[in-house]
Amino acid sequence: MQTSPPLPDSDGALARLLAGNRRYIAMRQLHPRQTSEQRQTLLEGQNPIAAVLSCSDSRVPSELIFDQGLGDLFIVRTAGHAVNEVVLASVEFAVHVLKVPLVLVLGHAQCGAVSAAVSDKPLPGHMASLKTALRPAVDATMDHAGDPLDNAIRAHVRLTAEQLWAESAILGDAVAHERIKITPAYYDLNTGSVELL
Ligand SMILES: [Zn+2]
Repeated sequence: MQTSPPLPDSDGALARLLAGNRRYIAMRQLHPRQTSEQRQTLLEGQNPIAAVLSCSDSRVPSELIFDQGLGDLFIVRTAGHAVNEVVLASVEFAVHVLKVPLVLVLGHAQCGAVSAAVSDKPLPGHMASLKTALRPAVDATMDHAGDPLDNAIRAHVRLTAEQLWAESAILGDAVAHERIKITPAYYDLNTGSVELL
């Protein structure tokens, strides 16, 4: 039976995620903690090692790309990892209640949500709010050299990480007192690698 290792600190949690990502890139996954025994163990409660705020994109599933198992990751996903009050509340829950030491903000290459924000075309319905949420990253990178979409994606990950501690007193306080780290990262759809920004 694979039980969960002890809860790491921020750097230890990040190291575990990056080690899992290296296994995933090499297709040498351990598929840890995915047994019925683990499911039973978790009936007593969860102690995830990290919260991950990522895009809803079907090609970016955190448990797979970090080779983690049941009870390892507390995941919040929205299109373009756009933040609203419920997203802030969800990350606060992971930090304040579950005591995760790490919040990883994970953007990715070819993000459709950021692409829509870069485009001049309006979006119908509630999707218009996505453009508003992602607009700051597009504006911040408008004059930059290189690929406008990739520039905006990387800027949006960094801005989202800042937004978490700036807009949440709970998260800001946890960062200030070094109880957590909020780390921006970028996933390459082609290689499967996660790069810290
Ligand atoms: Zn995306």
